[in-house]
Formats: sequence, structure tokens, C-alpha cells
Amino acid sequence: MTTETASPPALSPNAGRLAGATALITGASRGIGRAIAEAFAREGADLFLSATARANLADIEAHVAAAGRRVAGAAADVADEASVEALFAATVEAFGGIDIVVNNAGIYTGKPFTEYTADEFDRVMRVNAYGTFHVMQLALRHMQGRGRGKIVNIASTAGKWESPNQAAYNASKHAVVALTRCAALENAAAGIRVNAICPGFVETDMIGEFEGHAARAGMEFDAFKAAMAARIPTGRLLQPEEIAHIAVYLASPESDGMTGQTISISGGMRMG
Ligand code: NAP
Repeated sequence: MTTETASPPALSPNAGRLAGATALITGASRGIGRAIAEAFAREGADLFLSATARANLADIEAHVAAAGRRVAGAAADVADEASVEALFAATVEAFGGIDIVVNNAGIYTGKPFTEYTADEFDRVMRVNAYGTFHVMQLALRHMQGRGRGKIVNIASTAGKWESPNQAAYNASKHAVVALTRCAALENAAAGIRVNAICPGFVETDMIGEFEGHAARAGMEFDAFKAAMAARIPTGRLLQPEEIAHIAVYLASPESDGMTGQTISISGGMRMG
């Protein structure tokens, strides 16, 4: 039986829940990734942040630095393997070791199944599925060498259930769930924990991509969004911070007993 834990160094009683930890977060410029960066910084983690353009990170980097955390960043396209390798190397160089990796970068394309071009399908798979795979592979090798680590993947309710007019996104998020479970199983004894969060509708720029769905339904976007909220038992879309709370838990020692889990947060839209 291994005595290793997945956690970063022990916390002092008054420290944040991630004190002493270093984390790499992809897609940290806005939306859910930015909220996770803010929450991790509040809990005492040092952060390496990434997005497709470095300029997009300026605001969140300044915010994290103002909280007294060490922060660095780099542009990387997670769909590009060489770009991911450079990102990972830069993170290791900046911090020496990586305790937590959050695979959050993602894109959305919605349209009826029969209307997707192969290129559109490919791009969504490249960013959401291959991107997560590339980062996870490097993270797992790094963490195996240290005997500990936490990987948090941002999947979606679309990764666990069917949904109309988003076959490519749905397929990519089902892949993220499968990658989470397989990596968790293979790496549990090595002290590494791999879990996913499956959000429903979260109020971010990505929801703007639903304008096509609204047009298809012959509705104004605001009316379409109101109809979306009405389908949610809690009556509202989620806020990015609500996803970040779960990410903190999955990154912290509090969740050391969990791996391979896919935690849904959807205002009750999906249960189970
Ligand atoms: P968002 O506001 O559109 O932000 C997406 C983030 O991903 C941005 O930081 C963006 O960086 C980055 N990104 C996009 N393509 C990238 C690439 N090729 N390489 C590296 N970074 C890239 O979206 P969000 O709603 O916060 O979504 C974050 C994650 O949550 C995604 O995986 C999404 O699928 C998932 N999710 C969202 C919802 C929702 O309702 N919003 C629901 C379930 C799951 P740039 O600044 O460079 O563009």
C-alpha cells in the first residue's frame, strides 16, 4: 500500500487551502478559468496562467500578483502539441514543480449534426479533447516523478449526457470524461488524483456562442437565454465562481480520497 498522498506540502493551520502549491491553469484569461485563477490565488497557490494570447492574461496576472501570489504566464494553443510542450516546460522552469493542473481551455460550436463540416468537428476535438490529452500526458509524467499531484479537468454536462445541436462539443467532452477516468485509474497508486467538473450553463463569453441556437429557434438572444434559465430547476445560469469553488476542493488535500469523479453542477438541470 502506498503512503504517498496527492497533495501539495502540508498546510499550516492558518494558511489557505492551497498554500504552498503551484498550479498551471489553461484558458485563464476569462470566464471559468479566470474565476479558478482568482480562487486559487485567494487560497494561497502560485499560478502559471495560459491563454491563446499573452495580452489576454495581463489583467488576471496583475490581479493575482496584487493578491501577493507568484504568477507567470504564457501564450499557448492547447490544440498544438509543441505549444503545450513549451507551456509545460515554461511552468516547470518558473516554479520547479507543478502540484495542480487545471485543464479548462475550451471552445464551443453548436449546430445540427448533419451541418458540421469535418474541419469544424476536428477543431472542437483538437482544442477540447486533444488539448486536454496533451496537457494531461505531460502533467502525469511530471507528477509520476514526484509521487503526487492533482489534475482537474473542466468537462461539461455535455460530457455525461446527450444534448441537441452540439454533437462535436458533446463528443469532445465525453472524451474528457473518459480521459479523466482512465488517467485516474492508472495513476491512483502513484499518488495522483484526476477528477472532472461537469458544469451546466455558466454565464461566460461561451454562452454568446448560443446565439446561433437562438436564431435557429427564431428567438431573440435574451429571450432564448431566459428560456434556458427557465429549464434549470434553480431558475438561473451558474456564475463562474461557483465552478471555481469545486476546483479549489478538487485541488486541495480535502479531496485526496477521490479520483476519477465527474462532479456535475447544473442548478439541478441534470441529476446523477
Ligand atoms: P470562455 O469564456 O469562452 O473562455 C475560454 C478560455 O479558453 C479562454 O481563456 C480562452 O483563451 C481559452 N482558449 C480557447 N481556445 C484555446 C486554445 N486553443 N488554447 C488555449 N486556450 C484556449 O469559456 P468558459 O465558459 O469560461 O469555458 C471554460 C471551460 O468550461 C471550457 O472547457 C468549456 O467547455 C467549459 N464549460 C463551459 C460551460 C459554459 O456554460 N460556459 C459549461 C460547461 C463547460 P483566449 O483568451 O486566448 O481566447
